[in-house]
Amino acid sequence: MAHGLNPSQHAAVETLSGPLLVLAGAGTGKTRVVTHRIANLIKHRIKPDRILAVTFTRKAAGEMQERAMALLSAGGKGKGKAKKPTVRPQISTFHALCVQVLRRHIAKLGYPPQFAICDRGDQESLARAALREIRVPEDSLRPGDLLAIISNWKNRSLRPAQAASVAASDREHLAAAGYRRYQSSLKARGMVDFDDLLLCTEELFVNQPAIRREEAGRFDHVLVDEYQDTNGSQYRIVKALAMGHRNLCVVGDDDQSIYGWRGAEVEHILRFKEDWPEAKVVRLEENYRSAGAILHYANTLIAFNKHRHDKILRPARGAGQRPVIMQLPDETQEAERIVGDIQMQLTQPGVKANDFAILCRTNEQPRAFETELRRLRLPYILVGGQSFFDRKEVRDLLAYLKTVADPTDETSLLRIINTPPRGIGNATVKQLLAEAVNRGEPIWNVLREAAGNGGAAAAAIGKFITTIRELREIADRGAPIDKLIDAVVDRVQYRRELERLYPDPMEREARTASIEELINAGAAYDKGKKSKKKDEEEPTLLRNFLDDVALGGTDQRDEKEDQLQRNAIALMTLHSAKGLEFPYVYMVGMEEGILPHKRTLEMPDESQIDEERRLCYVGVTRAQEKLTLSFALTRRKWGKPRETVPSRFLYEMTGQAENAAKARRAGVASHAAPRKHPASKGAKGAASGKGPHTKSPRR
Ligand code: ATP
Ligand code: MG
Repeated sequence: MAHGLNPSQHAAVETLSGPLLVLAGAGTGKTRVVTHRIANLIKHRIKPDRILAVTFTRKAAGEMQERAMALLSAGGKGKGKAKKPTVRPQISTFHALCVQVLRRHIAKLGYPPQFAICDRGDQESLARAALREIRVPEDSLRPGDLLAIISNWKNRSLRPAQAASVAASDREHLAAAGYRRYQSSLKARGMVDFDDLLLCTEELFVNQPAIRREEAGRFDHVLVDEYQDTNGSQYRIVKALAMGHRNLCVVGDDDQSIYGWRGAEVEHILRFKEDWPEAKVVRLEENYRSAGAILHYANTLIAFNKHRHDKILRPARGAGQRPVIMQLPDETQEAERIVGDIQMQLTQPGVKANDFAILCRTNEQPRAFETELRRLRLPYILVGGQSFFDRKEVRDLLAYLKTVADPTDETSLLRIINTPPRGIGNATVKQLLAEAVNRGEPIWNVLREAAGNGGAAAAAIGKFITTIRELREIADRGAPIDKLIDAVVDRVQYRRELERLYPDPMEREARTASIEELINAGAAYDKGKKSKKKDEEEPTLLRNFLDDVALGGTDQRDEKEDQLQRNAIALMTLHSAKGLEFPYVYMVGMEEGILPHKRTLEMPDESQIDEERRLCYVGVTRAQEKLTLSFALTRRKWGKPRETVPSRFLYEMTGQAENAAKARRAGVASHAAPRKHPASKGAKGAASGKGPHTKSPRR
């Protein structure tokens, strides 16, 4: 067990009971401690299924499962006792954990046990409807803004009534009213949103002691990775699960807290000792991940955050290559240059595509890189950006699956009732809806009757119902998900719909590819399920699949992960890079207004900048061998090129903080008044001469 662990790590791994906190910087082996500790507990005869580990992403959960199992089978040779267990520890994300709890108990909160998890699109249409009902025009409050405010409240565990009492501005009062409507229509549809998963679980644990005991009683050990990013609900859920046995191990790094905007409170990790006074605290100080020169940048940068617990982070490795800063004329050339650089390195022996990551701050940045990666035909995977599941065709097909799983899922039913067009026009749908509201019944029931009415629309409705029923039969026979999706595509003639919608063959090909990807996901899912143990009260395969899809929509997804592991360059946001490592990391768009994000520049509150700095720190500390930081001198905004200002973080990292202040002033000016921003000499000057150590494009 001791092998591959330093003495502090070893101490943590050998602490088999009681509360334990590992608070340490990036790359010091915190996740490694969690994994080894799981294996060690099992070696000490703790039944695997009595162990619960919670991680932030599905990818992390999958990796941890794999590594713990590998450690067990490797360790089996030495001490002889441990065999590879057939039962596995439960390693999941918070959200997946909550789904399980809620499937068992949500009836207590007045939801059906087969509740659906609504996706972003469903949320938007519910928000839009809620605003319409309270007669708020979209220019006062857009559905997306309403959702952001609701999510913010939910992350602070505020229900509509409480939200109404904390609302401070007119806009927030409107939002509170919208929240009330939104929430009741969710509930009326038997749906929960992503935030509800946590909130409802918390509510059950707090208000129903018997349920808390039952759920807590499933485990004797709880371990949490990335603890610095737990929000209030997650914190209380963890506490509720561990308060009985007190075997709680949390690991994290306050410098990597990057979800403050989602309600995460770094205080939870800093206060751990107060909640669990007998806790053992372990600090790790050696960074095993990054070459010394990279770590030096990281340390220099994070020291600029004022409110932080100073901690030591020293390289376990040699200095290695100095990070490179690249300055490019515009964002297109930035992408060309960087992708070209990667292509060149890929020609070297032993270098693989999945050694590379391109990290972005915003969801818009990847586009230029995607274009270039495609042009050069390099394999890549986009993680954490605009989701695959937000594509129209994928959402259409999923809506079919959801309707098959539960025809009273109105949002889905309405999405597909005339998609592809089958002669059930808008007027008919309106009539049907009015009738359903009138009778207080699901629209599905009204449909069934309408089918008998005679006329063209009725015939179309009848055909639609038959299609759904036939698909339902296929599902009930236990057909694999890919076969079911195939059947949907076939019966509703979805390919013909694609031909109709997308005359351009390139576009059509891309759309067809997403369908293929969905079918692949279905096929992979079935395989995964078969190898797992059957649960007693397991809901249907289809329900499981839809749950996983809903969870994966915001996390990352298995099938994408597979690709990532296979062999592709990772193109991802900084947020989704947390916990990962890559030999070669490119942090692109290092400009004021991107990183730090423009939203935070306009705020007087320095703590927002601190969070951006932590985000930058997370990015820098992903790199093992080589870090490249790039910025473009101009970047298009609304189609027009605008001069940019290099990120203050570049200056800070390279020990030129005095120039950072200049960058800051220029940056605020350029973003506060984007339309009139004059050509800024400062930007150019800083970037070429006085700026941080830069390297112009070679070649
Ligand atoms: P982050 O803060 O980014 O989540 P972390 O603290 O969880 O990082 P790990 O991902 O567990 O760090 O470890 C970072 C790297 O260092 C991994 O490649 C890991 O295998 C390696 N590592 C950790 N501890 C040791 C050790 N004692 N000896 C050799 N390598 C180690
Ligand atoms: Mg980690």
